[in-house]
Amino acid sequence: MKLNICHLYPDLLDLYGDRGNILALAARCRWRGIEPVIQQASLGEELNFMEMDILFIGGGSDREQGLLVQDLMRREDQLRGAIENGLVVLSICGGYQMLGNYYQMANGEKIQGLGILDIKTIAGEKRLIGNVVVELDQYGLNYDPDDVRTMKASAHKLRTLVGFENHSGKTYLGEGVRPLGKVLFGHGNNGEDKDEGVRYRNVFGTYLHGPLLPKNPHLADLLLELAIQKRGWKTDLNELDDHLEVLAHEAMLHKLLKQA
Ligand code: GLN
Repeated sequence: MKLNICHLYPDLLDLYGDRGNILALAARCRWRGIEPVIQQASLGEELNFMEMDILFIGGGSDREQGLLVQDLMRREDQLRGAIENGLVVLSICGGYQMLGNYYQMANGEKIQGLGILDIKTIAGEKRLIGNVVVELDQYGLNYDPDDVRTMKASAHKLRTLVGFENHSGKTYLGEGVRPLGKVLFGHGNNGEDKDEGVRYRNVFGTYLHGPLLPKNPHLADLLLELAIQKRGWKTDLNELDDHLEVLAHEAMLHKLLKQA
């Protein structure tokens, strides 16, 4: 069995080590006998999102986001269609922002977004930087409250996400989307409404760098489960020994929430 994983703009949106998420997904595939087929694409390079199972877009500076916006706009229709068809997307920070309506930078200039997610981002006076703990709401790992698919990942013992944020953009959610959860430590989407991240169908956006997935194996496995479900495979993911990942996750919970 193979899963096609695409890393979009790895040369531009690579400022915070987010490629570690690709390494984590690939490892968790291999540990289960699934072959991860990793494809990269950047400016001007052709890509068929309909052939992808998981799309990853990392974070970067305002400058890089401005450089890629035209190329990204060119891909809007196909990406929108693939997302409506169940493409699994993990987008981090700048990559997350670009899926929304726009990103208004500190100088007032607006970078147009794809408008696939009803979110908007406006740069604040100060950068939101630091460790983050997010409490997943009871639906955080299931997009639709009525979603009766028994997601193993949603039954995972970890009910939080941990990571690191560094952004000037403050993101506000609109219609048809939901946050991943509530901030217990740190700022999250905007440092105001305690929301962090976004979920729309199989699309996940978050401000959490780290990289995110090594310390959040339950989210990594949810992305893989959703991709396998989309493929219609009659199999599910066997359990992995995540004791080291859980230890790292819980060390952050102890460090930060004891401080909080
Ligand atoms: N340039 C964007 C901001 O400052 C995104 C930063 C990032 O990707 N960490 O909000």
